[in-house]
Amino acid sequence: MTKWVYTFGNGKAEGRASDVTLLGGKGANLAEMASLGLPVPPGLTIVTEACSWFYTHGRTLPDAMKAQVLDGLAHMEKATGRRFGDPERPLLLSVRSGGRASMPGMMDTVLNLGLNDHTVEALGHDAGDARFAWDSYRRFIQMYGDVVLGLDHEVFEEILEDEKARLGHEYDTELSAVEWQHITQLYKAMLEEELGEPFPQDPQEQLWGAIAAVFASWMNARAVTYRQLHNIPTAWGTAVNVQAMVFGNLGNSSATGVAFTRNPSTGVKELYGEFLVNAQGEDVVAGIRTPQSITEAARIASGSEKPSLEKLMPEVFGEFSAICTRLEAHYRDMQDVEFTIERGKLWMLQTRTGKRTAKAAMRIAVDMVDEKLIGQDEAVTRIEPASLDQLLHPTIDPRFERTVIGSGLPASPGAATGEIVFTAEEAVEASEAGRKVILVRVETSPEDIHGMHTAEGILTTRGGMTSHAAVVARGMGTPCVAGAGTMRVDLRGERLIGLGGVTLGKGDIITIDGSSGQVLKGEVPMLQPELSGDFGRIMEWADRNRRMTVRTNADTPQDARAARSFGAEGIGLCRTEHMFFEGDRIHVMREMILAEGEEGRRLALDKLLPMQRSDFTALFSIMHGLPVTIRMLDPPLHEFLPKSDAEIAEVAQAMGMEPAHLRQRVDALHEFNPMLGHRGCRLAISYPEIAEMQARAIFEAAVEAARETGAPVVPEIMVPLVGLRAELDYVKGCIDRVARTVMDEAGMRIDYLVGTMIELPRAALRAHSIAEAAEFFSFGTNDLTQTTFGISRDDASAFLTTYQRKGIIEHDPFISLDFDGVGELIRIATERGRRTRNDMKLGICGEHGGDPASIHFCEDIGLDYVSCSPFRVPIARLAAAQAAIRGKNG
Ligand code: PEP
Ligand code: MG
Repeated sequence: MTKWVYTFGNGKAEGRASDVTLLGGKGANLAEMASLGLPVPPGLTIVTEACSWFYTHGRTLPDAMKAQVLDGLAHMEKATGRRFGDPERPLLLSVRSGGRASMPGMMDTVLNLGLNDHTVEALGHDAGDARFAWDSYRRFIQMYGDVVLGLDHEVFEEILEDEKARLGHEYDTELSAVEWQHITQLYKAMLEEELGEPFPQDPQEQLWGAIAAVFASWMNARAVTYRQLHNIPTAWGTAVNVQAMVFGNLGNSSATGVAFTRNPSTGVKELYGEFLVNAQGEDVVAGIRTPQSITEAARIASGSEKPSLEKLMPEVFGEFSAICTRLEAHYRDMQDVEFTIERGKLWMLQTRTGKRTAKAAMRIAVDMVDEKLIGQDEAVTRIEPASLDQLLHPTIDPRFERTVIGSGLPASPGAATGEIVFTAEEAVEASEAGRKVILVRVETSPEDIHGMHTAEGILTTRGGMTSHAAVVARGMGTPCVAGAGTMRVDLRGERLIGLGGVTLGKGDIITIDGSSGQVLKGEVPMLQPELSGDFGRIMEWADRNRRMTVRTNADTPQDARAARSFGAEGIGLCRTEHMFFEGDRIHVMREMILAEGEEGRRLALDKLLPMQRSDFTALFSIMHGLPVTIRMLDPPLHEFLPKSDAEIAEVAQAMGMEPAHLRQRVDALHEFNPMLGHRGCRLAISYPEIAEMQARAIFEAAVEAARETGAPVVPEIMVPLVGLRAELDYVKGCIDRVARTVMDEAGMRIDYLVGTMIELPRAALRAHSIAEAAEFFSFGTNDLTQTTFGISRDDASAFLTTYQRKGIIEHDPFISLDFDGVGELIRIATERGRRTRNDMKLGICGEHGGDPASIHFCEDIGLDYVSCSPFRVPIARLAAAQAAIRGKNG
């Protein structure tokens, strides 16, 4: 027979903390607290499976379950010495939801259940307080009417407001017992008129109604949306907890409160919480009255005059703090608890692992290792890798109420405030004048790089997580919200139009939150990042566990230095094209692209050579012997060219060309599908002189850096967008020839590797053949995702959010790897590549290299390294360590 119901109370429980799947988080922890002998009001939990039964049986409750609930009630009656529906000593109940994952406030609750026209009298008598009893009864009717009978809670509010006006009262507290009693009658009359039936007086009928309503609230719109946002499966269902009511509003020796066993924002080991005298749980949440501090120390720190619980009820405080210590030791983690004091008697209503800031998480994990509560491995697994963003970037003060005017993808973490500018030039101008700006564009292109460098933050209304803006901003550590489709840029009118038509102009202040993707109006208070000693200790423990190395994607010496300071162990991707946008290099690059023939190209390339060489020398020196992977030129050439007439006129003048002629050359280079066009290794095959120049710059820089630093440099040269083995053979041929020449010239041997990116499905499938020529593979998962799905990485965000909303995909595959499709290709390539070359070095350098879930995948299939933007290096180190620990523990 199915066991639908698990009871707890009086020092015993049928369930325990590990039964979360069955009993939900709340039920499992109530059971655990009861078995620990803690004061928990007796109750029962109806298992989560009953929720699916409810939905598959026309929203009804199984009879067997009802029978078990009645048995459970008998147990509660015994424990409390009260009886459900008894006119003398009635047992009153709370009926609450409690899923496997916390969904705060999303589902329904019914309190004071069991009250009717008779039991209300008993409650008043029992409590010695008729006013309290009638207030409780009217609250119950209101809650039940709303949650179970489907009446809008406003109809009750209306009656209450009318009565208060009639009686000349301003506050609820001014109403007397008789007045509440009268309001109760009005509520019941209204209810009967609306529903054609009287308010149910039978406590059992009330109970079945409430249980069904809580199950039904699993599918309310709020809960459905919340689950979508937090990836909680609908199939999980909720449990229902039915518990004996305890009252925190029975006079001045009663109270209710919430507390954390350690400070959730700093992690300091101190009881941290608030309470209200003579109040019920919802009064604390409602924020109408200012709660008081639990400890005397906190009261003094806050400068409050209102006494602390420690002072007000020293004995209860003593018991409560001992329970908190015990709960922490038992769960070996910081707890978030709810309690009620009924006439001096303490009751624990809930405990769960407490949410905390990244800083607090670090502090708590490290302290708990020192307190020997947990081991170092466990401390490492306790930190959410993505939360490290909070430690590396300024963040918006969580106490601040946000006015959101738009949202997009959280493309590069951290928050930034500044005045709106719409062009890179304005950004540079304003920052030169000492003003802080947010660069707002429809999308960015390499030409905007100077403006992106000087801006505090970048906002685009188009483009995904691997769009130019996102990739470059992450590289620079600049906060960025990309693809904010809910906003519109009117370039001509120099306006930014947000949600609800909010219109902002050039010079207006906005704040972007690159960690949440939100765009806010005006300036907001920020918290500055701080790296504590705790961070260092956690990272040291993480690194000890890590198998994969963590490299960085860095194109400039600044990026490389930042990445080193975050612990990068090499460069996994240097996108050489980014070097061509600095300063006046773009002119030389344009000269090269626009040259009519090879000779002209070579002349321009000769000018580019020393520039590239000095960049590479700097990178090699900063990396001091660590591996450095340099990729050959990748993007379609037209990306470097001017677009608007004004730009064309300017460039033509600088180059001494006719604007019309320049326009013709630009048009000739135009491609309909540039991402699938003349780019990657295809450029090196069409114009081998480009590859030769880059190879020469790399080898000459290696010679120079090796001489300078005394550390041998082993460059890893990477050929992008290879689909055919013959493509790689051809480009590798060029590179090898240049290598020999430079070595002869320098009289020095340089070890180097030539490898390829695997970023096309064909390359993954033919990996065994490509591996005969390639000495390493690096998975370019941005392009591999784009080409596997056939979805443009630059335009996808427009419809991917719709896909997510409609449940067609779970997450954006440009953010977190699509394990089933793209992942399968990576698996195939790994296996086939290693079949040919078993010691082949394998890594990933797409944006997924900084995504914790994708890093777990990389660990599982045995890659050697992940490479990510500098500010994600600590995240990757931690995630890689967690993946290794998980692997070790099976
Ligand atoms: C990739 O495609 O994953 C990659 C790293 O290259 P890019 O983003 O420069 O195309
Ligand atoms: Mg690519």
